[in-house]
Amino acid sequence: MNETLLEQKADAKPTTQCALCREYRKLSKSHVIPNSYFRAMKRSFNGKLVAMDSSPNTTASLSQDSLDDYLLCSKCEGHFGKWETLWIRRLRQASKLFAKDIDEVPLSSFEYETFRCFLLSIIWRAAVCARAEFSLVKLPDDVLESLRADLHAGKVSEAAGIGNRIRKLVDPSEFLKHGDLEQFAATPMTFSSGGLVGYQLFFGGYVVDFITSKITRRVSRIRGFVRDEPTLRIPAVPCMQVKNFVRIGMHMIDKHVQGKATFGGKT
Ligand SMILES: [Zn+2]
Repeated sequence: MNETLLEQKADAKPTTQCALCREYRKLSKSHVIPNSYFRAMKRSFNGKLVAMDSSPNTTASLSQDSLDDYLLCSKCEGHFGKWETLWIRRLRQASKLFAKDIDEVPLSSFEYETFRCFLLSIIWRAAVCARAEFSLVKLPDDVLESLRADLHAGKVSEAAGIGNRIRKLVDPSEFLKHGDLEQFAATPMTFSSGGLVGYQLFFGGYVVDFITSKITRRVSRIRGFVRDEPTLRIPAVPCMQVKNFVRIGMHMIDKHVQGKATFGGKT
């Protein structure tokens, strides 16, 4: 057997087109939601993740699956990795500053472009990923293509028309222990609130909105909206005021009541 045949045999996955650079390369498994958030969850659940979706008939269970998919070549993984490393660290540092009664934390020397690339790369990956857990995220083809081109070039034009809002989840009742909210991650959900429509993600103790409805002047002034300014002010929001957060909680309780939550590891 010649060397090429041996290589092909060793790598069962054929060369496929990378979703970002469009080159035909060997793809590696990419995480839609950065893996470090899953690692934190795995630590708190003995190496397992709480898998759930919004369907009433599925079971909520613990799994090892961190929702990855063959999407990107290693070069493009590295390209996204730079933004992830920077922003996961900065958001983690900021989350520690939300002590009791802190209403807002300002991030100075804010880099608008890299932060927006970090956030938009997550929703873009969710939209192009074929996994059922992300099937809720649907963006029009022209928006997807404009996002792809911008992310590949490492810049954000306003063409995609998606605005971001970030807020820190807090629990004024102190029912949740310190760090609980930081270890919670969920696949994107749709949201509609106060005239805003789009997708909502929870990770690292934050709730991040991807606003797909029109970004008017009023919308761009709401608290937590990510603007191209030298400082990003992250407001705190009581978790029980976030409808989707409450919904997930109710959903989990519901499954538990119906005997569909199986945290013993077996379904
Ligand atoms: Zn690539």
